[in-house]
Amino acid sequence: MRIIVIGAVAAGTSAAAKARRNDEDSEIVIYERDQDISYSGCGMPYYIGGEVEDKEELTPRDPEFFKKKYNIDIHISHEVFDLDTSKKTITVKNLSSNEIFEDHYDRLVIATGAVSVMPPIEGIHQKHVFALRNIQDMLKITGFIDSNKPKSAIIIGSGFIGLELCENLKRCRYGNLC
Ligand SMILES: Cc1cc2nc3c(=O)[nH]c(=O)nc-3n(C[C@H](O)[C@H](O)[C@H](O)COP(=O)(O)OP(=O)(O)OC[C@H]3O[C@@H](n4cnc5c(N)ncnc54)[C@H](O)[C@@H]3O)c2cc1C
Repeated sequence: MRIIVIGAVAAGTSAAAKARRNDEDSEIVIYERDQDISYSGCGMPYYIGGEVEDKEELTPRDPEFFKKKYNIDIHISHEVFDLDTSKKTITVKNLSSNEIFEDHYDRLVIATGAVSVMPPIEGIHQKHVFALRNIQDMLKITGFIDSNKPKSAIIIGSGFIGLELCENLKRCRYGNLC
């Protein structure tokens, strides 16, 4: 049995780990287009605020961890862009080398999560406008603050992520931004 999982954050890695606990013999492979896996989204606003000081606290596991603990192969920087359910194949692009290849599955888990909604507001794609969805987004925000020392910030969205971000920009290690 070959199980392929697309996406390696909360849903993908927990599905793969559970599949391993159910069956010691399956081949289990995860493709993840990003560089970070199984990270703590919850801590990202607190890294921006400075309460979490080390990025590694948010990304404690890497592909080696999953290989050693669960015998799961995780391929980061690999995007799945096509799927043929009749042949049970996926088409994958290695984003580092641009190589494109097919892989075969017996069972497929799609754990591709969500993306930030970017409302159609003029100027939204400028370099000082950010979404906060993953570790790379977080590093773009802290990198911008480090380099540009902005004096103020506006948050669109007052759900829990917006409020946590507001709390953290208020006590921000870089000054009170919100
Ligand atoms: C700032 C922030 C704070 C949060 N705080 C909390 C909290 O305090 N408590 C809580 O319970 N939850 C919190 N969450 C929510 C939590 O992070 C998400 O519920 C969780 O990440 C969802 O995991 P997921 O695996 O379903 O999807 P995602 O995290 O979206 O992961 C999906 C992965 O699939 C990959 N992918 C997508 N398409 C492809 C493709 N075609 N090929 C290969 N890979 C692909 C993506 O790159 C992504 O890495 C927070 C989220 C954010 C952004």
